[in-house]
Amino acid sequence: MSTFDLLILPGDGIGTEIMTEVDRIITWFNKQGNITFNCEHDLVGGAAYDAHGCAITDAAMEKAQKADAVIFGAVGGPKWDDVPYEARPEAGLLRLRKDLGLFANLRPAICYPALAESSSLKTELVEGLDILIVRELTGGVYFGEPKEITDLGDGQKRAVDTQLYETYEIDRIARVAFDLAGKRGSLVHSAEKRNVMKTGVLWHEVVSKVHQESFSDIKLEHILADNCAMQLVRTPKQFDVIVTDNLFGDILSDVAAMLTGSLGMLPSASLGAADENGKTKAMYEPVHGSAPDIAGQGKANPIAMIASFAMALRYSCNLSAEADMVDKAVANVLDQGLRTADIMQDGKQLITTSEMGTAILNELEDLVA
Ligand code: NAD
Repeated sequence: MSTFDLLILPGDGIGTEIMTEVDRIITWFNKQGNITFNCEHDLVGGAAYDAHGCAITDAAMEKAQKADAVIFGAVGGPKWDDVPYEARPEAGLLRLRKDLGLFANLRPAICYPALAESSSLKTELVEGLDILIVRELTGGVYFGEPKEITDLGDGQKRAVDTQLYETYEIDRIARVAFDLAGKRGSLVHSAEKRNVMKTGVLWHEVVSKVHQESFSDIKLEHILADNCAMQLVRTPKQFDVIVTDNLFGDILSDVAAMLTGSLGMLPSASLGAADENGKTKAMYEPVHGSAPDIAGQGKANPIAMIASFAMALRYSCNLSAEADMVDKAVANVLDQGLRTADIMQDGKQLITTSEMGTAILNELEDLVA
């Protein structure tokens, strides 16, 4: 019997609604009898601020450090627009990423055949698409110092952000990308701007060295980040794994994501370094936010959240067969024409958040029957 400890942080807005559907799937797995998930629930974001005056408590952080995986919903909403900056809902998310050392952000862009028509690109360009963007998450221009606005007088100001990378940061993200490519299509595109940025020159050098020394069986292509954006919308299926820095990754992963239809379909994983026992800290969350415009109305699509849980099964629990089963259940439900509002198409059946959860559970039942 395999046992895993999960920390469940639903957060705010639709975070709580979509997490309910993951809770049901976890209960279902526990009932099957060969895996046990021990789940603790806690508050994060605005919900934590309302209860404790901060976006995540030290006690919750301690649980996150001990868990095999953190399953995170979404945070934020207009209710907390005016809370102090350091206690804003997003501060909970940033603390989790920082304290758990989650330097690798994995964002798959998978186009389910049943949804290919809803992409903004032609069906044949996206049908069967399966790309993984590996984004460096804890370095680069979002964190580099100095980062400031200086008042120059006479109504003039100077703003500075600093793009900064050290060898070890590029080395470890490159290893994650090559390692994952080895389990997929064995192709890595490394995207940077070495033509105009020194960090791009170092990025290119370190990725090439890691490739030569440890992963020569994987095909490596270097690509300028702006060309990568163009190629993503021209012929996205040429890519398998794309590895890139924090800023370019933020943008390229949003581009790739939109090829597949709705925000409500997009999962993500954030991984840290492996410890001496090979255990990796990890957090799994949908790409979307707390969607205050539809919260509490049963309209949220729970698939991004459920697919994030499937990534936890794959990457933190080593349960590939179970992860495949969840992914298959989702694909089958879409094939049956069941749709939440965000992915609704003519002739399909509109269902609520909990009805989508029930349909996926029913499919899981069928798959094990
Ligand atoms: P959002 O992702 O919450 O919503 C954008 C649009 O997509 C909305 O119209 C929403 O209804 C729709 N949408 C998102 N997820 C959906 C789902 N699962 N099913 C159906 N429709 C869905 O982004 P936003 O509106 O810019 O931000 C709302 C709040 O969320 C803000 O407070 C923002 O700071 C926060 N936010 C949090 C995270 C996070 O927790 N990781 C990420 C992004 C935004």
